Amino acid sequence: MRAVLPLLLLFACSHAGAAWTSSTWDVMGTRATLEFWCESPDSRQTTCSAVTDEIRDEFARINALLSPWLQGSELAQVNAQAAHHPVPVSTEFMQLLQHSAHYFSLTDGAFDITFASAGALYDYRNGIAPDAAQLATAQQLIGFRQLVLNDNTVAFTRDGVRIDLGGIAKGYAIDRAISVLRARGIAHAYVSLGGDSYVLGDRRGRDWQVGIRHPRDETGVAIRLPVSDIAVSTSGDYERFFIRGGERFHHILNPSSGKASKGLVSVTILAPHGVDADALSTSVFVLGKERGLALVNRVDNVSAILIDEHGKVFYSDDLSPGTSAP
Ligand code: ADP
Ligand code: MG
Repeated sequence: MRAVLPLLLLFACSHAGAAWTSSTWDVMGTRATLEFWCESPDSRQTTCSAVTDEIRDEFARINALLSPWLQGSELAQVNAQAAHHPVPVSTEFMQLLQHSAHYFSLTDGAFDITFASAGALYDYRNGIAPDAAQLATAQQLIGFRQLVLNDNTVAFTRDGVRIDLGGIAKGYAIDRAISVLRARGIAHAYVSLGGDSYVLGDRRGRDWQVGIRHPRDETGVAIRLPVSDIAVSTSGDYERFFIRGGERFHHILNPSSGKASKGLVSVTILAPHGVDADALSTSVFVLGKERGLALVNRVDNVSAILIDEHGKVFYSDDLSPGTSAP
């Protein structure tokens, strides 16, 4: 799952106890990449690996909190119990629910974590999708209003409601990684989790280049962006999908139908924070070109690059206007 590819040349250079450090590992159902310039005159190796370990631990902690697959996660506990009684949740979990509520209302329901009431019926790896009757039942259970949020508890209005924070979890984790890096005095870094990334500072005198993957060519790059101090999130219909009878079943669902969203194939959002870039990339994907661009154009400090099913590229007003083929 690599919607955004880091297009960087790593300098193996090291001078005066400073060097680029890089690592990749699998977490949160995707691939994590971390590159940073580590300056530590005394014991560089120890300090650099301690920073990497701290970020690894943080991603693992967030996975243990939000994974729908781990029975002990806070998310799984909520899904298992909230229809029966209000479930106490951590402040962190509640904040993510509040973020989700914000994007639900900002997008007129296109971003809706209860999409999972239908989403849980898909198995992309094994090519399984719900039939019409199952979808009709699931549709009754989709809607953020099925959630009752109190100070520190969550309840569901009915049995069968499910939530999934997959639309913002990775962006949130990216923000946490950037906090760690900043706290450790790191000024130049690239961190990504699948299609979500952040570039901190520059590449020591040059821009970081972030590439948007070509939606129909796994190895191709459609667009390169020179960026710094910004979160970049790409949502694509090629991340998790199967094709049956010529139809593409993918993981970004339109909450009003419980079916895969059609029209766009890739949405990239640039924003100051990962959590917003992530929520908006999913949202704009569901909203489609017109409504999606209109939303981005009225939110401050957010830019978008969209690719539709014909390969046409569209930009938000703040980026150079016009269209071209990738
Ligand atoms: P990824 O990096 O996993 O591809 P995206 O930012 O593209 O993430 O978001 C897709 C994920 O968002 C899905 O895997 C699912 O967990 C969640 N999701 C899908 N549809 C919606 C929706 N309408 N509202 C909120 N979250 C969604
Ligand atoms: Mg997203």
